[in-house]
Amino acid sequence: MKISDIYKQKKQPKSFEIFPPKGDLSVETVKDTVNQLQSLNPAFISVTYSAGGSGNSLKTSELCSMIKNDYKIESVAHLTCINSTKQDVLNMLKTLKSENIENILALRGDVIEGCTAHDFKHATDLIPVLKNEGFCVGGACYPEGHVTCESIENDIEHLYEKESLGADFFLSQLFFDNDAFFKFLEKARKRGVTKPIEAGVMPILSKSQITRMIFMCGASLPSHIIRLLNKYESNPEDLEKVGIYTALEQIKGLLEGGVDGVHIYTMNKPHIAKTIIDGLK
Ligand code: FAD
Repeated sequence: MKISDIYKQKKQPKSFEIFPPKGDLSVETVKDTVNQLQSLNPAFISVTYSAGGSGNSLKTSELCSMIKNDYKIESVAHLTCINSTKQDVLNMLKTLKSENIENILALRGDVIEGCTAHDFKHATDLIPVLKNEGFCVGGACYPEGHVTCESIENDIEHLYEKESLGADFFLSQLFFDNDAFFKFLEKARKRGVTKPIEAGVMPILSKSQITRMIFMCGASLPSHIIRLLNKYESNPEDLEKVGIYTALEQIKGLLEGGVDGVHIYTMNKPHIAKTIIDGLK
């Protein structure tokens, strides 16, 4: 099923993101994760593509296939383009089609120093290729602006361009400040972006994890989160519990505010997703 149809059927869908196993590990090693996530009845599960240069891009299609064909959950394959030729992309699309995958999150990917772009400079170059092949296409968006963006308005202009080129839905970068998200949403809607925008939420599990993430993506840390990080710094177990609870409260606020849907970065830890989904019941 296309994600665009899921949005028509489900109100405020909850979806998960997972990543393929690292190194030589086979996708079989995440079977238990998918199995546990299945019991939470997600609207869909998205699978990252060689995120952070981890070199696991071929496993994305394999894992998407497992999610869709073995577990009967709709899957979304992330696909980056900055380091690929058009032929590489077409080969990947052929593989995804052969596995019955209908949905792709179209991404530029991070620019790696020393590597030159081939046929794609931005996700906007990739979207038409995917639409032309009949896929339902998602795009990334950044409530507080992409780390390299000149201004939030500029970023939203490119978001509008993504929709004009055929993007069917958007998944947001993680953020902790719901007010910032709703301000971004208002600006995007004013500019004419009409497609569903799912809010991306990543629970805090440790101080080092969150420090790494905010440097990578530029999300701001509200003072109540900084206070929690300091308070529970030497107590990792409690910090994780409080981090998941904080994410649950953030999601409740987003749902009350009328968000289109919530995308939970599960970090392949199903207990995180379970605590949140149970807490929302
Ligand atoms: P773009 O849309 O190209 O945007 C990048 C910057 O360029 C922005 O500042 C934008 O305003 C600007 N821009 C956009 N279009 C144009 C244009 N036509 N002309 C000029 N400027 C333009 N990375 C991975 O490697 N693997 C993953 O699986 C992955 N999953 C992600 C999932 C989500 C939900 C998000 C939010 C990010 C994900 N990323 C992933 C990270 C992503 O690859 C990086 O943030 C990357 O730097 C930008 O990708 P993009 O598709 O947003 O790029």
